[in-house]
Amino acid sequence: MDRTASIDSEVDLLVLGGGITGAALAYEASSRGYETLLLEQNDFGSGTSAATGKLIHGGLRYLKKFEFGLVRESLRERRILSKIAPNFVYPFPTILPNPGIVERMGLMAYDLLSFDRNRGGNRQRLPGTRRIKGEAARALAPNSLENPASDVLRYFDCLCISPERLTLTFLKSAMNYGARAANYVEALRFLVKDNRVIGAIVKDKMSGKEHEVRARTVVNATGPWTQTLLNRSLEQSVPDPQTRSEGIYLVTRKLSEEMYLFVGRHGHFSFAPWNNHSLIGPTDTPYHGEVSKWAVSEQSINRFLEVINATADLKTPLRREDVLFAYGGLRPLAETGEDTYNASRRSDLHDHADDGMEGLITAAGGKYTTSRHFAEEIFSRVVKKVKKKAGPPLSEHQLLFGCSENVEDEIQELRQWAGLDERTADFLVRHYGTEARSLVSEAHGPNALGPINERGEILAQVIFAVRHEMALNVDDVLFRRTDIGWFGHPGKELMDQIIDIMGAELGWSAREANEQRNRAEGHYRFSDKPGDDLQ
Ligand SMILES: Cc1cc2nc3c(=O)[nH]c(=O)nc-3n(C[C@H](O)[C@H](O)[C@H](O)COP(=O)(O)OP(=O)(O)OC[C@H]3O[C@@H](n4cnc5c(N)ncnc54)[C@H](O)[C@@H]3O)c2cc1C
Repeated sequence: MDRTASIDSEVDLLVLGGGITGAALAYEASSRGYETLLLEQNDFGSGTSAATGKLIHGGLRYLKKFEFGLVRESLRERRILSKIAPNFVYPFPTILPNPGIVERMGLMAYDLLSFDRNRGGNRQRLPGTRRIKGEAARALAPNSLENPASDVLRYFDCLCISPERLTLTFLKSAMNYGARAANYVEALRFLVKDNRVIGAIVKDKMSGKEHEVRARTVVNATGPWTQTLLNRSLEQSVPDPQTRSEGIYLVTRKLSEEMYLFVGRHGHFSFAPWNNHSLIGPTDTPYHGEVSKWAVSEQSINRFLEVINATADLKTPLRREDVLFAYGGLRPLAETGEDTYNASRRSDLHDHADDGMEGLITAAGGKYTTSRHFAEEIFSRVVKKVKKKAGPPLSEHQLLFGCSENVEDEIQELRQWAGLDERTADFLVRHYGTEARSLVSEAHGPNALGPINERGEILAQVIFAVRHEMALNVDDVLFRRTDIGWFGHPGKELMDQIIDIMGAELGWSAREANEQRNRAEGHYRFSDKPGDDLQ
């Protein structure tokens, strides 16, 4: 069957880009009665949305720039996401050492701006900020620090255990309301008639076939690629207004029990516990190269290690061998200039009717946290253009598709029902919600339900990813349907098993299986400099 056969019809809304902005918009539009199609050039959520520090947060440091509106919006969305995706979003304590008067005032304002954080019956309470001193403060520091601070502030934000699966969950929620979506379909250019965008010419990268998609409105939600698509499509080339900033994270063994902030000359970074490991980051470095050529490089990893070692006062410096994996992305910032660290993280919505081109909106998301609300704003513009009556909004209150409120009970029920290892039941319920049972039912083969790593992941996830979650390449499975690939190379034997399972499901030839092996290995090799092509 041609997987893109159904895209040749006219829709109310064509969303280009399947990051969190596109996925949240597809959900908003389809749940309010708009016929919606979303197309993503690579895998869903594989762009900037896979580069986050996994925080669902208010953005404390934006208060320094008096961005009260953005912080309030983010804190409100933090509460909403914890309510509509409770199995993904959890309270996350953060330690700010040696606070000065500015930080103390800042956190007071942060608590005030999140006055409603426990409103609406969230099952998990978010406490207010506390100042802790002396031995109790020192005990909260990573034990690798030479001189832990004896005066700290402990405040709460939230962690999303898997932004990649949460993006997919927004998309599944959209599809539950009839939206259609395809990954590995690239928009080549817009279809333009009489100064109006009426759709796009797109290419299915799996089959090589081109299609014409017609739409009453098109939203360009392609993140750092927005300008690339505009320049490729519209007759006049527009100078690129966006400054992009490279942000990377390093994955290491676990270095702290709670998120610990370091503020230095170069900005800030943190040690954040995640899955019994640490995420260290982010960096914030201006990037001027081609977006499509950017990748995490050895140069960026080594520079960041120097910054960490110069700032964190560790007993033993971190070395390159301590880095199990590194990932990152480019921030599409709404402000220009070299000071990318202090540039605003607000989102940017542009209606091209203002430049005489009807039917097209460009939407670049500033923060993962605020995407649901940003989608509401984009959709309001779409409604004004399409002039079709929209149903009532529900994304603020309704659980996302498959999301589960009674996580602890469901873990125990799943464990008993399927006779699973406790870690497996825990992982499946938190990452798959109510779909965990159908995942277990897909298991076949002698070891399909046996844990393959310390998190309790199982091979049945691979089968489920291909059959029910549109995974088409090995990295879709390693990094966005499961967590298998995040902690360094999972080992040859496991990689072969994954490729064998996917190959059997997708009918790969020996040559294709080999290409997939090379593709997977490529994620564990880094180019020398950002913007270099890997040979
Ligand atoms: C290092 C780093 C850390 C961050 N940490 C956080 C955090 O902890 N919390 C937080 O709230 N925010 C964080 N952010 C911000 C957040 O990641 C972004 O705001 C958000 O992911 C933007 O989503 P998006 O959908 O707009 O863009 P993207 O996720 O980049 O999605 C755009 C998509 O469009 C696709 N595309 C491009 N061109 C085409 C085309 N021609 N046809 C079809 N598809 C196309 C791309 O492949 C991509 O998947 C962080 C950002 C970075 C870089």
